[in-house]
Amino acid sequence: MNINAVSKDCIGCAACMDICALGAISIHCDSEGFYKPQVDDKCINCGKCLKKCPANTSKTEKKVSEFYYGWILDDTVRKNSSSGGFFSSLANYVLSSGGVVFGAAYSNDFKSVVMESTEDVSLDALRVSKYCQAFSNGMHNKIADHLKKGRKVLVVGTPCQIASLRLRFANNENLLLVDFFCGGIAPVSAYSNYIEYLEKCYKSKVISVNMRDKSLGWNLPKIRVKFENGKVYSKRYQFDYYCHYFYGKNIKNLPCLTCKFTNHTDADITIGDFWGYKSANVSNDGKGISLIAINTENGKIALDCVKTQLQLYSLDEKYAKYAYRGKDNNTQIIKQRNEFMEDVKKHSFVYAAKKHDFRYGSFGVLLKILIRKVVRK
Ligand SMILES: Cc1cc2nc3c(=O)[nH]c(=O)nc-3n(C[C@H](O)[C@H](O)[C@H](O)COP(=O)(O)OP(=O)(O)OC[C@H]3O[C@@H](n4cnc5c(N)ncnc54)[C@H](O)[C@@H]3O)c2cc1C
Repeated sequence: MNINAVSKDCIGCAACMDICALGAISIHCDSEGFYKPQVDDKCINCGKCLKKCPANTSKTEKKVSEFYYGWILDDTVRKNSSSGGFFSSLANYVLSSGGVVFGAAYSNDFKSVVMESTEDVSLDALRVSKYCQAFSNGMHNKIADHLKKGRKVLVVGTPCQIASLRLRFANNENLLLVDFFCGGIAPVSAYSNYIEYLEKCYKSKVISVNMRDKSLGWNLPKIRVKFENGKVYSKRYQFDYYCHYFYGKNIKNLPCLTCKFTNHTDADITIGDFWGYKSANVSNDGKGISLIAINTENGKIALDCVKTQLQLYSLDEKYAKYAYRGKDNNTQIIKQRNEFMEDVKKHSFVYAAKKHDFRYGSFGVLLKILIRKVVRK
């Protein structure tokens, strides 16, 4: 038996490729554009890959013990982070002790997302949410090398990526695993097609992408794309093809719609946006508030080490629920998603976006919002 046995549940973490000593596994995009392993004839069916595969494990509900909300005191870093910049406080702490930080960065052409470390890119490049599946890039073996040398390692990734790292490395006091309250990931095919479309519209290369631009405030995020010719594309999510469909369900990976990590985390710490701020009567200055869940003793120690960098408050668990996205496994959503992805496969993301409910562009979305308001009255 090899990794092919779990292909339909595969989340593309590439743990299998890194663990295979024979080099029999490589990672490629499947027909929808999600990263998946391919096994070649060097495989001897030893089953090692399956043992380290998070899709091959069953998960029971696991409660987190302590919740906090807060933000980093450094205002510039806070502004340049998705939420309250809690990730950066952990990164500062690990880097100042001679450690390494792994996270997601855009590729040089901004057409894909790659798991990189501060050995190769700046901490700035790892900041901010990228709404596309990240290519693992041999991350598991790189982490193993750093841990062997006794270095501290911080990894921030999706709950499934973090589950794969926990399977490989178990509990190691030098390894701090952080995941986020994840709403699912989109395929590189859709994302790269969209960037190419913008380049065509603006007749220029993309030189930066920010899908959590806070110019209108953290709770009114915008996508902001800069081009070589100095032009800037900036839109609220509901008026942008990519963000509209990313926040809908249409371009999520199928295993994300039935995600088994929604109620189970293998991370030491889970981070997210504190969308429960209104219910908890917390004032919002528009700069971003992080939600922080401490899941392990290792996580507790890390939080103690970064407290001086933060404005931090403890929080009742009931206000954390706003960060969670429920599962989207109802048959209507899956049917819609599959029809949309068929068009992405046959044509392109932009073709599918124009054809489906975004077909009237911003006007169509405005019309929909108006109709919804009238119906609610
Ligand atoms: C795809 C995705 C879905 C999310 N869904 C939710 C949600 O439903 N609810 C919620 O409360 N929060 C969600 N988040 C988390 C939230 O957007 C922030 O990333 C998180 O709160 C950390 O913010 P920060 O200000 O501390 O740091 P930031 O500087 O924003 O750090 C973001 C961290 O996430 C890592 N990262 C970014 N993109 C990816 C990626 N594609 N794959 C792996 N790692 C990545 C970065 O390397 C960095 O370490 C999601 C994030 C992503 C990437």
